[in-house]
Parts: sequence; C-alpha cells; structure tokens
Amino acid sequence: FFDEIYDNIDEKSIMEEDGIYIMKTYGRLPVVLIKGNGMYVEDINGKKYLDFLAGISVNNVGHCHPDVVETIKKQAETLIHTSNIYYIVPQVKLAKKLVELSGLDRAFFSNSGAEANEAAIKLARRYGKNNNIGEGEIITMEHGFHGRTLTTVTATAKPKYQEGYGPLPKGFKYVPFNDLEALKENITNKTTAIMLEPVQGEGGIHVADKDYLKGVRELCDDTNIVLIFDEVQCGMGRTGKMFACENYNIKPDIMTLAKALGGGFPIGATLAKEKIADAFTPGAHGTTFGGNPLACASAYASVSIIENLLENAQKMGEYFTNKLKALKDKYPFIKEVRGLGLMVGMELSFNGGDIVKKMLEKGYLINCTSDTVLRFLPPLIVKKEHIDELVNALDEVFSEMNKNK
Ligand code: PMP
Repeated sequence: FFDEIYDNIDEKSIMEEDGIYIMKTYGRLPVVLIKGNGMYVEDINGKKYLDFLAGISVNNVGHCHPDVVETIKKQAETLIHTSNIYYIVPQVKLAKKLVELSGLDRAFFSNSGAEANEAAIKLARRYGKNNNIGEGEIITMEHGFHGRTLTTVTATAKPKYQEGYGPLPKGFKYVPFNDLEALKENITNKTTAIMLEPVQGEGGIHVADKDYLKGVRELCDDTNIVLIFDEVQCGMGRTGKMFACENYNIKPDIMTLAKALGGGFPIGATLAKEKIADAFTPGAHGTTFGGNPLACASAYASVSIIENLLENAQKMGEYFTNKLKALKDKYPFIKEVRGLGLMVGMELSFNGGDIVKKMLEKGYLINCTSDTVLRFLPPLIVKKEHIDELVNALDEVFSEMNKNK
C-alpha cells in the first residue's frame, strides 16, 4: 500500500484534493513535504529545505533518525498494539526512563499534548478533592497554550482559540505570566492547581524569570496547591536541558510532555509525584492507544538520543541567539530576540507572515507565532554551519525588504 499511496502524485493534485477532502482547520503554506533526513526535508518536486522548526519542536532528534527508524521497524514487526488491560514492555521501560530523568515518580501515557494536559488537570482535581485542596479551580497564564480539547482550550487564556465552543468547562482563571503578585492576589480557597509553561511557546517565546518560578514553587509548597508544568513544547532537550524546569532547579508536582517525546511518533506523557499519582485508581482514567508499544518504543529511542544532544543544544542555542542579536543591531524593526537553548523567538514590529513565506521560497522552514514573533525550533543536531546559513538567508530577506520600502 505504501507504493499505492505515493504512486502518481503531483503537487497540484495533492493541494486540490486536500482542499476537497480535509477540513480547513489549518491555513497551509504552499508546499508538499514528502521526505526528511536529519536537518533537511524535501518537497514533492525534489526541492530541499533546511528545517528550523522541526515540526514545531517534534523532530528534536532530526528527521528519520536511523535509530528511531530501526526501533519503530523492529517494534512494528514484533507487536504494534495490545490493550492496556495487559502489561506492555516498552511502556514500562519508557516510564522508568522518564521517572529517572525527571525525578517524578509515575507516568501516564496518552497520545498528544492536549491529552497529557487533560490527564494532568483531571489528576490534580481528583487529588485536590481527596485532600481538600481548593474546589478544582486551575489558574493558568496569559499567553499560555495548553491544547485544543474543550478543557485544554479553556486552560488556554486566548479568546481566539475558544470562540464558538461554549459552554466551556468551569473552573479556570487567568493571570499575567511572570507576575508573582498577580498570582498571589488571585489565589483563593477555590484554587487547586497552577499550570504554566516554563517557556511559553505559542504565546511568543516568553521565558519564565528565575525568581518568578522559584516564587511560584514556594507558593505551592506553602499552600499545597498543585504545580503543573506544561513542557509539551519546551521539554525534551529543547532548552538545552532534558526538561526546561531543570534550568531553574525546580521540580513541578505534575509535568506534561508530548511533541518531541516520540521522535515524531504521537505520544503524550503525564508525570507526577507519587502522592498525587495515587489519585488515579483503576478505571479513573484511560485511553486505548496511550502507552501503545510502537509509540513507547519510538519514544524510548527518542529520549535516549536526546540525552546525548543536550550539550549541543546548549552551545548552539547560545551561538544562534547571539547571531540573531547581531541582526537586531542592524534592523531597527527587530524589537527583541529572546529564548532559552534552541527555543528562540525574534519579535518584529510587524506581522512576520511574509518573512516566513519568503524564507520558505528560499528553502528554509521557520514560523511566526503571536503574529509578530518569528519562532525558531531547529532539531537539536543543528550545527554552526546550518545556523550561519539560516541567519544569512534571514539577513537577505530583511535587507530586500528594507530596499522595497
Ligand atoms: N501544550 C503546549 C505548550 C503546546 O505547545 C502544545 C502544542 N502546540 C500543546 C500543549 C498541545 O499539544 P498537541 O497539539 O499535541 O495536543
């Protein structure tokens, strides 16, 4: 069937049939990508692109990493799926690895970031109920992003994502990010949990201040409020540490992972401290595919590879950020360059959509989030030469733009 899928395809017909058969939840860029290898992807016409987006922090180990491919192949030939009513070897091995790396105690596996957050919210509420911590209310941050299911879209403070989906689940409250006083003012006897991304991704690459995150941890320690870190985008080596919270020497009570966890294969994980994890008893939560052998085997390979890429991510993150900062000195419309490790944003004084399109034409994948922030999330295998090339291309696009003004 593989040959049948790829037989007789061309760009025009794929784009046309996408328009006919697929719901229009995404405004797609005009390119059909069909191959990937390391830092590069290739479109249907054979044109190559240097990937500085990694599927929005999914391909952290690079495209089609041979060890991920081999693991998936072997697992697929061995056992693709079995039910969670039986023990599953790759699931146990992956959970053990993640527990050891995170210092948390137990894992629950699902299939996406939104699902990992759903599980985190359900777990926190159930734990809160059992222990008289609040009334189920969850405080989340402005500019945060937690997913598109009804509950996680409600946890996501931006009205744009919620439009037309009411009635929304109750019990969510939003406060400004990086503002400990505002958070303290909003805590009441209803508060059960606080949920945040240590580095906000979709909201435009906002890095939590050291004192702020430390303050939030202390606040939760003092009040027993559950602290949930959504590391779906900033986790898995993205910031130069396996988990972004390691940059702060802080551990949450619950942490969620997805995206790069599976090396490209869909998987989500919710990790928690034992006393909280215990609130999930048999039958309390579940999903058919969560912890599936194929997904867990792929994730086991991906996590193992990422362990050896952290140093490169740190070094290249610094090198890249400095190069982008040098561009800022050249172009006054660049307002700020910010980030942590290889999670980097460049805020412009205008919408960055056209820059993304011009970079695509030149053969570079980047994207724009929150309208004005160019977002760079290269695979963690990135080298200086890739960074130099990308920054030169960006420089060219900026200078052409200056000329056309
Ligand atoms: N949390 C964060 C921080 C995210 O960036 C995303 C995806 N952009 C999600 C949750 C949702 O993940 P998924 O799309 O896998 O449901």
